[in-house]
Amino acid sequence: KSSADKDNRVSPMMAQYVEIKAANPGSLLFYRMGDFYELFFEDAEIAAQALGIVLTKRGKHLGEDIPMCGVPLVRAEEYLHKLIALGHRVAVCDQLEDPAEAKKRGSKSVVRRDVTRLVTPGTITEDSLLDAKRENVLLAVARTRATGDGAYDYALAFTDVSTGSFRVVASDHEMLAADLARIDAAEILISDAVYDDEEMRDFWRDLETPVTPLPKQSFDGPQAEKRLAGFFGVATADAFGSFSRAELIAAAAIVAYIERTQLGARPALAPPQREADGGSMLIDAGTRVNLELIRTTSGERRGSLLAAVDRTVTAAGARLLSRRLSEPLTDIAAIRARHDAVGFLVEETELRDGLRKRLAAAPDLARALSRLSLQRGSPRDLGAIAAGLKEGLAISSLFGVEPPRDLARCARRLAAVEPWLAEELTAALADDLPHNRRDGGFVRQGYDLDLDSTRSLRDESRRVVAALEQRYIEETGVRSLKIKHNGVLGYFVEVTAQNADRLREEPFNATFVHRQTMAGAVRFTSVELGELESRIASAGERALALEQAIFDKLAAAVVAASGPIRDAAEALAELDVLSGLARLAVDERYVRPEMTEGVDFAISGGRHPVVEQALARGSGGPFVANDCDLSAPESMKDARIWLVTGPNMAGKSTFLRQNALIAVLAQAGGFVPVTSAKLGIVDRLFSRVGAADDLARGRSTFMVEMVETAAILNQATPKSLVILDEIGRGTSTFDGMSIAWASLEHLHEMNRCRALFATHFHELTALTQRCNRLANATVKVTEWQGDVVFLHEVVPGAADRSYGIQVAKLAGLPKAVIARAKAVLAELEAAERVSPAQRLLDELPLFAAAARPVSSGSAVSAEPLPPEPALMELEALDPDSLTPRAALDALYRLKALL
Ligand code: ADP
Repeated sequence: KSSADKDNRVSPMMAQYVEIKAANPGSLLFYRMGDFYELFFEDAEIAAQALGIVLTKRGKHLGEDIPMCGVPLVRAEEYLHKLIALGHRVAVCDQLEDPAEAKKRGSKSVVRRDVTRLVTPGTITEDSLLDAKRENVLLAVARTRATGDGAYDYALAFTDVSTGSFRVVASDHEMLAADLARIDAAEILISDAVYDDEEMRDFWRDLETPVTPLPKQSFDGPQAEKRLAGFFGVATADAFGSFSRAELIAAAAIVAYIERTQLGARPALAPPQREADGGSMLIDAGTRVNLELIRTTSGERRGSLLAAVDRTVTAAGARLLSRRLSEPLTDIAAIRARHDAVGFLVEETELRDGLRKRLAAAPDLARALSRLSLQRGSPRDLGAIAAGLKEGLAISSLFGVEPPRDLARCARRLAAVEPWLAEELTAALADDLPHNRRDGGFVRQGYDLDLDSTRSLRDESRRVVAALEQRYIEETGVRSLKIKHNGVLGYFVEVTAQNADRLREEPFNATFVHRQTMAGAVRFTSVELGELESRIASAGERALALEQAIFDKLAAAVVAASGPIRDAAEALAELDVLSGLARLAVDERYVRPEMTEGVDFAISGGRHPVVEQALARGSGGPFVANDCDLSAPESMKDARIWLVTGPNMAGKSTFLRQNALIAVLAQAGGFVPVTSAKLGIVDRLFSRVGAADDLARGRSTFMVEMVETAAILNQATPKSLVILDEIGRGTSTFDGMSIAWASLEHLHEMNRCRALFATHFHELTALTQRCNRLANATVKVTEWQGDVVFLHEVVPGAADRSYGIQVAKLAGLPKAVIARAKAVLAELEAAERVSPAQRLLDELPLFAAAARPVSSGSAVSAEPLPPEPALMELEALDPDSLTPRAALDALYRLKALL
């Protein structure tokens, strides 16, 4: 044979690898080789780069070197963690038999291997891979063609496999991005047809969440109902309530994916539940980032609103708080119910502190339950369930008669778990529990008679060994004789070399059989030791087997009660959130906001939750509280817009954000950092804050800003709250000012929403002369010995000057530059006696005054403005000078222009 032939041969191992790899596309394959997982080809290159480990070569495949890297078994979890965090998926391929078995089949045969676990960002359940305080959500997007107009219906189904929650919500093309941002999944499933759809290609590829396209069978309509019913063991999916086709498909896609990645094990998912329509404040992705609700713009929890208001004491509570801040409610009754509960816990100091102490002792029920149902549970998970349920029961009786609605509901759910389960677990489990069920020793003495007697046999045998050793010492007179144990000889007698001869002599040679001579030691066995060996081994094995059976029985009882346990877990988390918010209110002097159905927005003494705490920690001065009143003025039904001016660094952004954050926190159910607040429910929150470049996506700051501004102007309703900071900054002054001007007019005339608009274009303040619901506010500064001093105080009126040069001076610009800038400024001001803004006001008609305002319906509703050419044409017409014929012609021309 030529050497080329030899090169082109595929080794049996490589053949197996290639086959398994092909069956698991899209995943990095961890291929088990003894004490390592190895990765080959492209996988090796990706992993070596991602993990910073050495890329080497192993053998050849089809004449080419095979790139390879390996991770030791003992560190596999850690490396998995890194890869998952980077959004990769990993198929773990294990050896399914002892290599010795394979040898028996023939020297060429390879060890049987297959994938035993698919680890993906959305389906992990291991504590070591999860962040305890963060939900880990797997989400599926289904798209179906709606009947009639040919538009698409969307539905999202999402679950946290590690806790079993499972929800479904309808969506549409406009809402999709905001829904995805709200749910904040770890992994998104989508049919590959939708993933590759021309129109949406960029959308999916631009998402920061890993997106997993799946073959379209996973999103198959006719199969969906069957699949769901099968998973939950019910006759038809109707059992869950009525779902749209898209919702069923999305839910079924989740179930199918879980079945595939967990390879048969079945997590105890709750039956899918539909989210109520319009149940939460709509906040688009950009606004979430800008306002740093859950994490900061740099991706950290620290510095976010969540971190500032989180006083929870359990991981499940922290997860729920994060969810609530992501989804502030819009239902006034539900918001008030939360406020009632927080208020009650603010008052009841002792109850609150006792509750929090108990909660802190309660383990993470939901995640323990999920691991048990996936057969990955440990004795500690059983212990966690027992302890959690017991705490729950104790907590359920804390609230006395008639606590507020939400607290009563929690207490009911905690009391609904049958007490026998916790009692049984407590009776069965030892005090110290091992991590691994295979270690045994977790069943309490006295729980199972059979186990107890087997164990005492095992333990007694150990005493017998000690007694035997003593007897051998006395009989032989060898004081240093020891009975030891190893895997090869079992129990054996060991003596030093000098003493060995004694055991070889009569009468001892009848008892001791020489087995091994070591340097300095000699080993013997005896018939008695051999018998003892097998007695101990079989007792130990039997005890372990009994324990495993007990474990399975207990785990099954837990899984059978998974519904009530999950409810109890949710109740504990909710109590943690509510009592945490109460604690926050007490510590930070937050008060209950008055919620209304109107468009009120009256805050007095408002503070920024994050900045206030940061100032308190640092050495900075105290936070200056500020009022904000956008409520509808007496004479009008529409709320106001504040135009906020003031120099850089005065505190404009802080003021804008604090008001948005107060609205979010209030509707999430918390008390707020104010002395008093009256707030009309906000249906949508928009913000355009700061000017972070989005270079990663190749868009300029200005483009991003305009895209976001467009979204606001197209979507804000009279019930919305809009925060616009410095729009139009990213372009030339006149361009920028014109855009800011037109946007402000549009908000005022068309959207008619509550808005805070910060700008450094002082010219805009003139607009109040004709926009009757526009009010000017400015952040006060004063000058002291030529330097600007920031007072951070928001007051009515317009800033008279920008102080740009003073701020530049503070920043340390060279003196010469400052002096020159002052001179240039004086020249410019002299040249511009009449401000261009005043001229505009005098000459330009008000923006689209005739156009209809944006309606408040739930659909996106900026209606198209009448095209301008028609208006211009109309304006040019002089009816008095027209003949009837010319008038008719004009009418046709106008009609054609529409
Ligand atoms: P601007 O948007 O006007 O440039 P910022 O809102 O960024 O100003 O505020 C500048 C700094 O002033 C912030 O970093 C903050 O520490 C401080 N600051 C802002 N508002 C207040 C306030 N109300 N009380 C105390 N310090 C404040």
